[in-house]
Amino acid sequence: MEKLIDEVWSLALQRISKKEPPTARPSLGDDIDLYVPQTRALLLMEANPAVASLIYHASYEAANRNAYVILRKLGMPADYFWKFEYWPQERAFEALGKVLNRVFAAMLGQSKEGRLELVEVNAERLRFTVAFADCAECAGVTAGRGLCCFHAAMFAGIIAAAMNKDMDGFETACSAQGDATCTFLIGKRDEPEIGVGVSDYLAPKALELIMADRLNRCLQGHPLRSLGNLVNIGYYQALVTNCVITNPKLFSMSSFNVGVECGAKTAAVITEFYQEHQVEVIKRYYGQLRHLDVRAIAVGDNVDIVLGECAEVAATLKSKELLGFLFGELQGLVSHLINRRMVYTESWFEDTALRVRLSPQV
Ligand SMILES: [Zn+2]
Repeated sequence: MEKLIDEVWSLALQRISKKEPPTARPSLGDDIDLYVPQTRALLLMEANPAVASLIYHASYEAANRNAYVILRKLGMPADYFWKFEYWPQERAFEALGKVLNRVFAAMLGQSKEGRLELVEVNAERLRFTVAFADCAECAGVTAGRGLCCFHAAMFAGIIAAAMNKDMDGFETACSAQGDATCTFLIGKRDEPEIGVGVSDYLAPKALELIMADRLNRCLQGHPLRSLGNLVNIGYYQALVTNCVITNPKLFSMSSFNVGVECGAKTAAVITEFYQEHQVEVIKRYYGQLRHLDVRAIAVGDNVDIVLGECAEVAATLKSKELLGFLFGELQGLVSHLINRRMVYTESWFEDTALRVRLSPQV
């Protein structure tokens, strides 16, 4: 699983070094509608508030590990920022800003995750403020709290790799709360104020999402940010992996249950939107979101769903543990559409396609 995340980082790095990696999906392309990663993470967080903390820790580890390698590749020695606390403020700001812009802001811009900018540096206390405009994690979502823990951890992990110290970060402003941009404060992990900030930020809080409303806006193509409504599938793959990485079997199962519910709600919204009630409506839905290509085939009493160009499945890694939510969603969607309780029974890869079997519940 870690390999998958590292591959996402390496592809992002290739894109900014003008070595355009090959397109993984010939007809759907490399991007996916923001709605897909957002609902995936937020519905899981809503069902299990501990998910925010899981995403945070997995994202921190991945960012720290990969940023460390990238910085060494750039020829920056591990002790480059040694004694950063004694640097004059201006020099500290300029040097770190350069590193962030040259690599990490470029990667995030290229993948359309958002626009990263270093806002303030307090060299003496090792405190950093970064802004992230057009954040993919929360664009178009409304919530009473900051939601962007994947990026909070990513920025903390990157700066930690540059400083060669343990750092942590949390949001002090979030677009989901109506703030203009998501803003993150990053500081030393052992500083009480940072520790308290992070545990408050990750503490389980109820989320009440209005999924149907967000889905309608997505289907209507309502523009959400200046970077557009799409984001690179690598971001989605990293996010999904972070959700299940601590205990893939367990989290794949709980994702399945959340997916079933999501599928049932989705069926109601898409039949209304497309004015189409047959099972074929899912092809239009998944296609419009650039999530996957889909074909439904009746096999006796079963319904087989053949998935192609599935965003969750990277070219090199075919892990079913990342597909729990999708299997559940298909079960919920199809049961609702054909008005018969179907259950997921099995799935298997057929060359690059994935075949999912739904059978009538006995
Ligand atoms: Zn945010």
